[in-house]
Amino acid sequence: MKSEIPVLDRTVNGKRLVYLDNAASTLKAKSVIEKMADFYLYHYSNIHRAVHTLASEATMAYEQAREKVAQFLNAQPEEVIFTSGTTMGINLLVNSFVRSGLLKEGDVVLLTQVEHHANLVPWLRASKFHGFRIDYIQADEKGVISKEAIEKATSVKPKIVSITAQSNVTGQELPLDFVREAFPNAVLIIDGAQLVPHKKINVRALNIDFLVFSAHKMMGPTGVGVLYGKKELLERMEPFLYGGEMIDKVTFEDATFNILPYKFEAGTPHIAGVVGFGYTLDFLENLGFEKIEKQVEILSRYLVDSFSKLDFLELYGPLDDSHHSLVSFNVQGVHPHDVSHVLDQMFGIATRSGHHCAQPLMSVLKRGSKIDFPNSTVRASVYFYNTMDDIDTLVEGLKYVRKMFV
Ligand code: PLP
Repeated sequence: MKSEIPVLDRTVNGKRLVYLDNAASTLKAKSVIEKMADFYLYHYSNIHRAVHTLASEATMAYEQAREKVAQFLNAQPEEVIFTSGTTMGINLLVNSFVRSGLLKEGDVVLLTQVEHHANLVPWLRASKFHGFRIDYIQADEKGVISKEAIEKATSVKPKIVSITAQSNVTGQELPLDFVREAFPNAVLIIDGAQLVPHKKINVRALNIDFLVFSAHKMMGPTGVGVLYGKKELLERMEPFLYGGEMIDKVTFEDATFNILPYKFEAGTPHIAGVVGFGYTLDFLENLGFEKIEKQVEILSRYLVDSFSKLDFLELYGPLDDSHHSLVSFNVQGVHPHDVSHVLDQMFGIATRSGHHCAQPLMSVLKRGSKIDFPNSTVRASVYFYNTMDDIDTLVEGLKYVRKMFV
């Protein structure tokens, strides 16, 4: 695998790179980049418009990527819309709902207290202008969402439930089947940014209405994301962006729109990025999605077990079987930015420190914290190409940090 990911061969500050910031973005495979370069160099053109050969080659490659995504999710190709990422997908949904009259004054949108800002701020801002109400499934003091909390939230009778499949701070995977059962009549939107990269989501089996995720968190290019939506819902929705191939007919008075999925893809998309994401899915499929899931599980467990032996760490999240791929923690007495900085400078370890775009959740964790909580944490996150050796190096680094500062 190392030969496929050249950056793993480089040194950082004189040490072997240990990349544990996968929840922010994953590393890229050489073979995928080479295929993307080949596409750009020999097959590139704008898509869907011209009748010349390059245009049809580029269009075919783009639409093949859509078919691969559809297969990956167990969806129909017309239900797969390419966006620039998870953030864009949620903004599209919120804006489209209010324009289509699907979300009105008096309606309730249910979120959780562990959402990334991307699944929080678009709803908060739209609720200011359109008068719908937002409620939350409560997290406990470790940032954990329990089934009891989910059940309790049914009393608010939400029209829309928009939740993450896995928290980017606590690593908890939410019980999506349980959520679907608890809210059988609500429109269910899943933020798959963290879960989809290491665990396949079957949108039909789970009866999900909308799913959003980002290619860059699963070895794909940046600037590419997917919005899956049930056809019958997408058909009822007003587009969010206008112009380009999303148009059917335009007069000086008004416009009508193209069929799905083009109706939601205004302007020239990130053509090579989408094509590259198709190559990425081939790459991951060749490795085996089940193997990826298993390897991430093994590494996550090893991460939790290793951290549990360090009594100077405060750990957040569930840490049981519902937990995957990342751990947020603090080193008692040391600011997270100092921890991350020393790990990078002295050990070549990449981790993330900060509020992880989940500021409200930081206030929940603060309540449960037994230390002088700095409103931020350090986060170590693995992908399948990490090794136990990477985690051992991190443990060594954390012991050094603790000794250095305390
Ligand atoms: N949702 C979750 C749970 C995330 O972890 C992230 C990124 O960290 C996002 C949404 C936003 O993803 P993007 O920046 O790719 O749009």
